[in-house]
Amino acid sequence: MPRTITILGSTGSIGTQTLEVLDTLSAQGAGDHADTFVVRWLTCNTRVADLVPQVRKYKPYGVAIRDEAACAQFKSLCPDFTGPVLCGEEGLCEAAADPANTIVMSAMVGFSGVVPTVVAIRAGHPIALANKESLVSAGEYITGIAREQGVPILAVDSEHSAIAQCLVGEELKSISRIVLTASGGPFLNTSTEQLDDVSPEQALKHPNWMMGAKITIDSATLMNKGFEVIEARWLFGVHASQIDVVVHPQSIIHSLVEFVDGSVKAQLGIPTMHIPIQYALTYPRRLASPVQPMSLTKLGSLTFFEPDHQRFPCLKLAFDALEAGGTAGCIVNAANEVAVHAFLNKHIRFTEIPRVIERTLESMKNQQNPSLPTILETDAEARIIATHLTTSRLVSQ
Ligand code: NDP
Ligand code: MG
Repeated sequence: MPRTITILGSTGSIGTQTLEVLDTLSAQGAGDHADTFVVRWLTCNTRVADLVPQVRKYKPYGVAIRDEAACAQFKSLCPDFTGPVLCGEEGLCEAAADPANTIVMSAMVGFSGVVPTVVAIRAGHPIALANKESLVSAGEYITGIAREQGVPILAVDSEHSAIAQCLVGEELKSISRIVLTASGGPFLNTSTEQLDDVSPEQALKHPNWMMGAKITIDSATLMNKGFEVIEARWLFGVHASQIDVVVHPQSIIHSLVEFVDGSVKAQLGIPTMHIPIQYALTYPRRLASPVQPMSLTKLGSLTFFEPDHQRFPCLKLAFDALEAGGTAGCIVNAANEVAVHAFLNKHIRFTEIPRVIERTLESMKNQQNPSLPTILETDAEARIIATHLTTSRLVSQ
C-alpha cells in the first residue's frame, strides 16, 4: 500500500521540498508502493496562492489553512476543490490527527508547530520533524509523549539527520560527544561594530542554504545552531555538556558523532535538504535521489573554526536555556520569534535580538517539568514581554 502523508506547512521551504521529494519517490517507486505517498492534507497559514497549484497537482484529500481570511480566499480561488477545507488551529489539528495519516511532516515555522505536532503524536503518527522550535519550546514534553505512545520522531534538520545516520547500528550509551557543524551564516567575518548596522536584506542572504526568512535570520545570529543544540539533546538523549558546535563554512560535513572508543563518524553531502527529507520519509531504507554527487577533489578543502560567542551571544543563550531546563527554552524561543520579527520590520537592530531574549528571560520565572498548558501560557507571556521590549525600544538602553 502507498503511505499517506500530511504536510503541515506545505507552502514553505521544507514543505515544497518535501513535495519535490515525493515526485522523486513516485517516479521510481512504480514497483514498490512502500515508498510512494498519497498526500492526505496540505496546510498553510496565509499563502493560499501557493497552496492552490499544490492542490491541483497533488490532489490532497483536504486542506487546512490557519488564517481565517486566507481560508475564505482559498475557497474562492479553488471552487472546484471538493475535499474538506478546514480553517484555524482546530483545522490544522484535525489534519494532524487524521487516522488515515501514516506519517506527518511537521514543517510549520516557530511555536505554531507545537500543538499540531503534539496532536499528531497523540494520534500515534510517526513524525518527520523539521519544526525544531517545538523541541526548543517543549522538548521534554514532546519526547515524553512520543516515548509513551511509541511514536518515532524522524529528524529532518540536516545536522540531526546526519547524527541519526551516524548512529545507525550504535547504542546511545556509546556516544561520548556530538559535534554540530554550523555554516557561520552571512556574518561569519563581520566585525562587532558592523553587526550593529546590518540590514534584514543582508541577513537574509545565507551563503549555502535557501530557507524561510525566520530560520535564515536565526542562522545569521547563530540562534539556529543554539536551537539545534537543544533539539539534539531531546532527540538523542545526550547532556548539554556532550554537545559541541564547530563552524564549518562549506556545509559539507553535516555533523559528527564521537564514540567512547575515540572513533568519530561524520555524515557528508552537498548542502541540499532533499537528502535529509528523503531519508526521514524512507527510513530505514535509502532510495536513489537526483541530487548531484559530491566531489571531494572539487571541494578541495574543508575548514573548521570555534564559534565566536562574543559576536554571536545567541548560541550561549540557548546553551544556558538547555542547562536551566524547564520553561527556559520556551521563553528563549518566544522572545526570539518576537525579536526576529521586529528586526525584519526594522524596529530593532540585529545586535538587539539577543538583548530582547536576555531581558525577557530575566523578567520571567522558570518552571520545571512544564505541562502543555504551562508551555502555552509561558509562550504567550514571553511574547508580551518581548513585544513590549521591542516596541518601547527598551533594549537599546
Ligand atoms: P517557511 O517560512 O518557508 O514555511 C513555513 C510554513 O509554515 C509555511 O507553509 C507557512 O504558511 C506555515 N506557517 C507559518 N506560520 C504558521 C502559523 N502560524 N500557523 C500555521 N502554519 C504556519 O519555513 P521553512 O520551511 O524554512 O521552515 C519550516 C521549519 O523547518 C522551521 O521550524 C525551520 O526551523 C525548520 N527547518 C528549515 C530548514 C530549511 O532549509 N528551510 C532546514 C532545517 C529546519 P504560509 O506559507 O501560508 O506562510
Ligand atoms: Mg540545520
